[in-house]
Amino acid sequence: MTLAIGVDVGGTKVAAAVVDEDGRILAKLKRSTPAASPARTEQTIADVVTDLQADFEVGAIGLGAAGFVDSAGATMLFAPNLAWRDEPLKARVEERLGRPVVVENDANASAWGEARFGAARGYREVMLVALGTGIGAAIIIGGELYRGRWGIAGEPGHVRVVPDGRLCGCGNRGCWEQYCSGNALVAEAREFARRTPGGAMRLLQLGGGVAEGISGPEITRAAAEGDPAALRCFQIIGGWLGQGLADLAAILDPACFVIGGGVSEAGDLLIDPARAAFERALTGRGYRPFAEIKVAELGEDAGIVGAADLARQTLAREALARETFAREAAAREAAAREAAAREAAAAQAAPAQPAIGRRLLTRPLFRRPVA
Ligand SMILES: [Zn+2]
Repeated sequence: MTLAIGVDVGGTKVAAAVVDEDGRILAKLKRSTPAASPARTEQTIADVVTDLQADFEVGAIGLGAAGFVDSAGATMLFAPNLAWRDEPLKARVEERLGRPVVVENDANASAWGEARFGAARGYREVMLVALGTGIGAAIIIGGELYRGRWGIAGEPGHVRVVPDGRLCGCGNRGCWEQYCSGNALVAEAREFARRTPGGAMRLLQLGGGVAEGISGPEITRAAAEGDPAALRCFQIIGGWLGQGLADLAAILDPACFVIGGGVSEAGDLLIDPARAAFERALTGRGYRPFAEIKVAELGEDAGIVGAADLARQTLAREALARETFAREAAAREAAAREAAAREAAAAQAAPAQPAIGRRLLTRPLFRRPVA
């Protein structure tokens, strides 16, 4: 069994683990990310891998990195929460480790983990939507990750859902993630508590008495207790989620949506309103099947498990390609040797024809008219 190391490189932490072929984690490490320095981030990645390699024989190393990975899987084009700008991450980490690594976008790695070993097992058309600070997403079509021409496909968080709506970190207005994300959930709860403190007593209590103190896990806790204000927040975020999923279904028609990220820990409190909104908004409802909407199963390990599996598969594919190439080259060479030997034998058996006769034989009988 080939073991692989998967590394999840986020804006705040670098988490790495040794993963077996069934997606099981055998050992795991975590460090904080020196996000302001690309060189120190790369050193941290190399350090965690080196530490894990000391105890395990691993066949492949995969990185799931929070940012735009170019289509060659080599360069970090841009990362919103790290100092990577056109950073040759693959080469830099390979230099430090002295062996090949495979680089993938973190949401793609998570989707791959969920599709292989988690909530989307058995589905070939999958879309992952992870609600955290913003929206992370990934697309799997026909059992393969869809990366787009430049590696940047699957960023629905910045699809405009409200003309001239809330200002987004990307510089545009009305992006989906301003209405449907962990940040949006917290903003909703705080605004409600400020406007209607009497109706948000439990939320305010959990937030230490002030609206600014309310955070995501507390909203989930209050909703799980049945607090109407917290439930209302999930209704709103779930509504935006379901509407957005219907829009995505209009483009991709996936069999399964996997909802991940911190907000998804609320489970049905989020998924029920999302499913209701999805079924209301889906074009042609009643005449087509509804896609599954499932909560991610692998939690924060999805990116690690997915990156490890992708690396193992990529290296296996490359080894197979090298093997096939070598076999075909050997076969071509053998055929050429055989042909040369036959020609030599034929030349010995019969005297060579005069050159002029050969040319006559090979001349075409008709010339094709020029169009
Ligand atoms: Zn945006």
